[in-house]
Amino acid sequence: KKDCMTALVKRQIELAIGKADAVLFVCDATSGIVPQDREILSILRKLGKEVILVVNKIDNKKGEEEINNFYAFGITPVYPISAIHNIGISELTDRMIKRAYPAEIKEPLSSVKIAVVGRPNVGKSSFINRITDDERLIVHEEPGTTRDSVDIHLEKDGMDLIFIDTAGMRHKRKIKEPVDAHSLLRTEGSINRSDICIIIIDGYEGLTADDMRVIRFAEEGGKGSILLVNKWDKVKDVEMSKYESALVKRMRYVRSIPVIFASAKTGMNIAETFPLIKLVGKNMKITFSDKELGNILNLMQKTERLPLVRSGKLIEVRGLRQESVRPQTFSILVNRSAFLPDDYIENVKNILRDELGLLGVPIRVKVKRG
Ligand code: GDP
Repeated sequence: KKDCMTALVKRQIELAIGKADAVLFVCDATSGIVPQDREILSILRKLGKEVILVVNKIDNKKGEEEINNFYAFGITPVYPISAIHNIGISELTDRMIKRAYPAEIKEPLSSVKIAVVGRPNVGKSSFINRITDDERLIVHEEPGTTRDSVDIHLEKDGMDLIFIDTAGMRHKRKIKEPVDAHSLLRTEGSINRSDICIIIIDGYEGLTADDMRVIRFAEEGGKGSILLVNKWDKVKDVEMSKYESALVKRMRYVRSIPVIFASAKTGMNIAETFPLIKLVGKNMKITFSDKELGNILNLMQKTERLPLVRSGKLIEVRGLRQESVRPQTFSILVNRSAFLPDDYIENVKNILRDELGLLGVPIRVKVKRG
């Protein structure tokens, strides 16, 4: 009879833990440790699963006395609970939530996740190495949320910055590596996981179609962006302001994001990234008062940047609201019959950006009619 039980229990364990990340190993305090507990534990250990030890039925004297014996398993902390009296359950669920969402629990809200992205050879790895040069800044490194990424935690100006290092950029060997087919996917993946993207381009080569794709992807994902024009040490006799105008001419959205001219090789302007991260981070979540929005509404009603008539229809902007942040989302209320072409919305965004100082963050505008 006993063997039969064990076979059944084994089968049950195998079934239950097939897809599990961690296992709640529940023991009975009133019976103390029994041989079957040891047997089950040895199976769990063989399967290499994380084991969370739960000792149930501690609500009576016998149970209370037995708890300490369970430390013999060498699994800490032990979670003593009483399922029927709801004792110790919240500690246990906290632990499970932490296990399921380690990043969300550990990081305070002031932390900012940063993806360093760009085409191969623009200098991403050189940049990461530059900013982590100062070992004192590094709080710690830990495995990231995907297999090939590492999160590097830096502390700077009171910010907890988490750089997502994909494919070992930081410790990359100084050899030419073949351009790998997954680099675009990896780029998109790390943009998705970030709050702010530092998009690096090769200043010597200029803004390419691939660069613009990356910038667009970050914008569409609602991410904050900073454009870093790298290898500036190789660019001769070009003024930054002229270069920047040319960038904006090629891609209008560049007007909306901070641009730094830098050299990861010499270190020039690399430190400028930190105040910009702070600025963009603030812009991502700033909220505005009704008064501030009221002033802008007034301006929208008067400005020549927004035409009063389009396709023979009158456009009246009657209201402006901030709907949400991350990304910054506003709504405008217009008269029912108004016809708003894309460039009208674009102008609304530009007015909001200029007047509210929202550099480096995407702005969404919803149109409500009534
Ligand atoms: P990644 O592929 O984007 O990570 O680019 P790397 O950081 O590996 O840099 C590619 C090449 O560009 C290397 O030979 C670097 O030494 C060089 N490089 C990186 N940054 C600069 C820079 O600011 N100026 C110059 N002249 N070369 C750079």
